[in-house]
Amino acid sequence: MAEAKYSFHSLMEITKRPANVFVEGHGSWLKDADGKEYLDFVQGWAVNCLGHSPRPLVEALSRQAAKLINCSPAFYNETMIRLADLIVKHSCLQRVFFANSGAEANEGAVKLARKWGAKNKNGAYEIVTLDHAFHGRTLAMMSASGKAEWKQLYEPKVPGFPKAVLNDLGSVKAALNEKTVGVMLEPIQGEAGVFVATQEFMKGLRDLTREKGILLILDEIQTGMGRMGTLFGYEQYGIEPDIMTLAKGLGGGVPLAALVAKEGVCVFEVGDQGGTFNGNSLMMAVGIAVFEELTKPGFLEQVAKTGTYLQGRLEELSRQLGLGEVRGKGLLWALDLNKESGPQVVEECLNRGLLINSPRKNTLRFMPALTVSREEVDRMMDTLKSAWQKIG
Ligand SMILES: *Cc1c(COP(=O)(O)O)cnc(C)c1O
Repeated sequence: MAEAKYSFHSLMEITKRPANVFVEGHGSWLKDADGKEYLDFVQGWAVNCLGHSPRPLVEALSRQAAKLINCSPAFYNETMIRLADLIVKHSCLQRVFFANSGAEANEGAVKLARKWGAKNKNGAYEIVTLDHAFHGRTLAMMSASGKAEWKQLYEPKVPGFPKAVLNDLGSVKAALNEKTVGVMLEPIQGEAGVFVATQEFMKGLRDLTREKGILLILDEIQTGMGRMGTLFGYEQYGIEPDIMTLAKGLGGGVPLAALVAKEGVCVFEVGDQGGTFNGNSLMMAVGIAVFEELTKPGFLEQVAKTGTYLQGRLEELSRQLGLGEVRGKGLLWALDLNKESGPQVVEECLNRGLLINSPRKNTLRFMPALTVSREEVDRMMDTLKSAWQKIG
């Protein structure tokens, strides 16, 4: 076993990890130090949109590494211009700031909204966010998030994030006041257990924010870049946000994020925002490669089709075994168990060579590579079923 070969003592223990040590990955498959293979339906937390070590990324990385890695954000580089142009061309927004993580992009969104509020709304700075939301782990994003477990952690928190309830427009209205500058939410609350914002709620929010003259900010860090079967989640609601953040899939596995905004919202002035690694050529080259793959004819249609297939298989399993609700879109799905056995099912699946995730004890989450095949979905379902039957 890997435990005998490795000691983990030098690492801070920030989460409970299984003892398996991973050394290699290709597509939907991972290999550990003992040579055992795993079908991966976690994919670095919905990050590896093209699977493990996909050729376009390996080529982009090695080509760019040999050419230019980082010339500092104080200068333009060719790749940052190209990737920003791609995001603008394919979205409803016009200006891009690159960051290194989702939380950092969200911090940027909050800064931009607060600056916009200082200029246009008498210093309004509050941003209404939702219970159970997940926006990242910086101090401000812990406040913006709605995770009950974080309430007592690292006090005092950053103020200015009153809470409302997903799919309850009345609760958002009740949270608004003259200090409100915007509303921020995820189209699908992924970390909370895959809860989808309804069409009615999202449209209502867009109308409400427009009527009040405040900003609609979408955290598309998990839902963006094809995960919902369209390039961006907002497309499925027929609305346009004022600000959007991207990360996870944008880098296909490398640290890359973006803050994207409407021209009129983009009030940053020289010196307001920055970061040493932001827009570095190496990560930009990867983002370009990801974008080129996702926007190839038929790619997103295939994601939607495989997603519908996975949904059908999960619903069938739920019926067969008397489990709970199946929720999601595209290739982001959850299956409710009717008891709190998620962690045991995850462990049994791991033993059987399958990686899945349990975001809460009574829920399993599935976030495979967008390139996952039907055969791999079938294989996952077989393993999951046998694991469930053993755990029961
Ligand atoms: C993962 C995630 C984040 C945080 O991204 P990091 O890169 O971990 O900082 C924020 N919002 C959502 C919706 C996410 O899924």
